[in-house]
Amino acid sequence: MGKVKKSPWVLHYDGSSCNGCDIEVLACLTPVYDAERFGIINTGDPLQADIFLITGGINTQNKDVVTQLYDQMPRPKVVVAVGTCACTGGIFKDCYNILGGADTTIPVDIYVPGCAARPQAIIDGLVQAIALFQKRSDEHDEYERAHKGEKRNKNGQVS
Ligand code: SF4
Repeated sequence: MGKVKKSPWVLHYDGSSCNGCDIEVLACLTPVYDAERFGIINTGDPLQADIFLITGGINTQNKDVVTQLYDQMPRPKVVVAVGTCACTGGIFKDCYNILGGADTTIPVDIYVPGCAARPQAIIDGLVQAIALFQKRSDEHDEYERAHKGEKRNKNGQVS
């Protein structure tokens, strides 16, 4: 993973799940797996979040909540679906109120499979998310510079 210029903040939302994946996500935030060593921090505020980490499937009740949280996050942003339920609806897929995985409601960038998703897989997904967030941040900065009449050469110098 390359150098990151910002520590991305992670918003965790539990959709329709058994909480198995949530326990693994919490384990990742403890010193045992220490996901914070990659510079991320857990936040409960979507207005401050860069990475949306969702566990569990989407149901008719939480669909609007998930959409609203996603919309409240500033751009650029990255979405990570953790666990089979968030990826596809999982074991709840055929329940009367389940619509499916997170991508039935919002665009998902990274899928972390597993039931429950293993901490190693979650951390791998987070590392991919940080790299993607960095790429989108750079593109966003470039866009801003271009619209201010400022461009950078290949060495990153303003010309
Ligand atoms: S993927 Fe498995 S462990 Fe994770 S929330 Fe769904 S049923 Fe629970």
